[in-house]
This record gives sequence, structure tokens and C-alpha cells, in this order.
Amino acid sequence: MRGVFTLLIACTSLAGCASRPDSPPMKDTTTVDATEACKQWAIAIHGGAGTISRDGSPTRRDAAIQGLTAALELGREMLQNGVPAIEVVEAVVVSLEDDPSFNAGKGAVFTEQGTHELDASIMNGATRQTGAVAAVRTIRNPIVLARLVMTDTPHVLIAADGAETFADETDVERVPNEYFDTEHRRDALERVLAGREASDDSPERPNPRGGSTVGCVAVDSQGRLAAATSTGGMTAKRWGRIGDSPIVGAGNWADERVAVSGTGTGEEFIRWGVARDVAALVEYRGLSLADAAIEVVDRKLRPGDGGVICVDHTGSIAMVFNSTGMYRGAANADGLFKVAIWDEPVPAPE
Ligand code: ASP
Repeated sequence: MRGVFTLLIACTSLAGCASRPDSPPMKDTTTVDATEACKQWAIAIHGGAGTISRDGSPTRRDAAIQGLTAALELGREMLQNGVPAIEVVEAVVVSLEDDPSFNAGKGAVFTEQGTHELDASIMNGATRQTGAVAAVRTIRNPIVLARLVMTDTPHVLIAADGAETFADETDVERVPNEYFDTEHRRDALERVLAGREASDDSPERPNPRGGSTVGCVAVDSQGRLAAATSTGGMTAKRWGRIGDSPIVGAGNWADERVAVSGTGTGEEFIRWGVARDVAALVEYRGLSLADAAIEVVDRKLRPGDGGVICVDHTGSIAMVFNSTGMYRGAANADGLFKVAIWDEPVPAPE
């Protein structure tokens, strides 16, 4: 087996690409080259990117690591059993949505009004089918409803009241909005609102980051790719703000070559069409998956904006971020199974 984990510190620069002229070198990326053995299946997951302090609560960190590990084990088992990638990414994201450690489903961040509005999207690279929901309030697992938008409607994205009405026609599980409440997200809301008051925050100022969005990308043993992303968005978001996670091509993408899921400042991911841009660099410029992901995260996004997880049809994996950390994990048919937050290994649970 060769090239299991390659740490790339320098960024690949491409003459002629639109990019931020002043971007500093990328902070970290982890890539796994496909080998003969792992040209079967591969999976990557994330639980959000951002300023993840090494001095933060070990209890919270351990809970997130456990959640990622359980989700990755689920995905690995499904792929080992020949389950199609589209089923795998949905099931893995459901598991992360049900875990209160993450900002998706249970544990989603609060809006400014103290409620929750959830966004999700899913894409089947083999068929180019895709579905998304935005600003839903009573759907326990938004990724399940996004899948139904894909399979049961002629549409791609359904939002807010319309999505709730569509859900009435399905058997997706409904919950009161308070189901999504958690103590630590309420504390975060209060901190943000107090900060706004203290700084006379203007409505034009971008909302603070949510962090802990979840995503999964996979290629199955038949080479079919899929991607799924789900989030509560940003803490104290206003006016029905919708981020990149349900925007196909921005926070989520899958085609016959690559699958990409993003996490970070949604507005920037939309401006740069991040997920589709990674795929386009592979398709039109012939870049490797890792080089394409580095090009977009390092040279188009602003430092600290976030990161992406990607797999390609050969089983290559790239997990690239320009923030302090990104909760992430990857597994493949070659025996790889790894969960990480920063560049260095996660400290053992206390
Ligand atoms: N990208 C998400 C959003 O903007 C937030 C995140 O990934 O932290 O809604």
C-alpha cells in the first residue's frame, strides 16, 4: 500500500485561475491516494470546520469524536456490504443529525429568534439526481426530506413553508421545533446576541459561524459517487438566511468523477461555487482530487473560511481545510479508518 497519508504544506498554484491574489499558503490538508486495493470503496465525513480550540471542553470533543467514529463505522459497514453510495451518505448523515454534538438535526444552532431552521442537500453522482430543503422547522432528519425531494418531486430545492407542506405528504418523522434545542447552542446564541448589543452590530455584518455542520461523501464498490450535507446554519441567523449546504454546487456536489461536501462560511462557499469548482478543476483542468481541493480552499476561500471533504471514482480521498480544525474522518476498502480534528492526532479520551 502506498501514499496512505500525505501531508501537503505548500499549495499548488495554477496560472490563469481566478483566485484571491493575497491568499497565504494553505494550512493543512490530508490526502489519501487510491491504491489498487482501495479502488473499491471509500468514504469521508465531516462534522464541521472552524476555530476549534485545543483548550476546549474535552467532554464535548470526545463526544464529537465518538459520534464521528460511530458514523464512520456505519458507513464502512454499509459499503463493505455493497450498499449503494447514495444510501450510505443518507444513513451516515442521519446518524450525525441525531447526534447533539453537531449543528444538524438535534443540536442545530438557534436563529436570532431562538428557533431552528435547517438546511440539507443530497446528490447522486451516478444519475445527477439531487434534492435539497432549506429553512425547515419540524423535520427530524432534513437529509431524508432532501432525498424525497430528489426522488419524489420534479424539483431540486424546496424551502420553508412549502417544504413543510411537502413533508405533510410523506412519512418523514416530524418533531416540535424545541426538539432541536441544546444547552450549549443556547449559550452560543446568548453570547452572540450579547456581543451584537455590545458592538452595536449592524444588520449588514455577516452572521457568526455555526460550525459543526455535517457531511458525507462516498464512492461504492461499483464506482458510484454520492454526497450529502446537513446544517442548522449560523448562530443567530436572521431573515430566513440560507447558507451553502442546500445549494447544489456550493456546499454539496456529486458527479461521475467526484463527490464533495463543504463546511464553513456559507456565503463564501456560495460566491465561489466551491463544491462544483472542485469538480470542475478535476473535469476541465485534469487536476488530481487533492490539487483541486487545495486550489479552491487555499486560493479562493479566505483563510479561516472552512474546508471540504472529497472522494473520487478511484477511491482517492481529500480532506482540506484552512481553519484551525475540521472534525473529519475517512475509511476505505484498504483498511484505512481515521478520525481527526487538527493536523496532529486527537488526544486520547480522559
Ligand atoms: N456552511 C454552513 C452555513 O453557512 C455553516 C458551517 O458549515 O459551519 O450554513
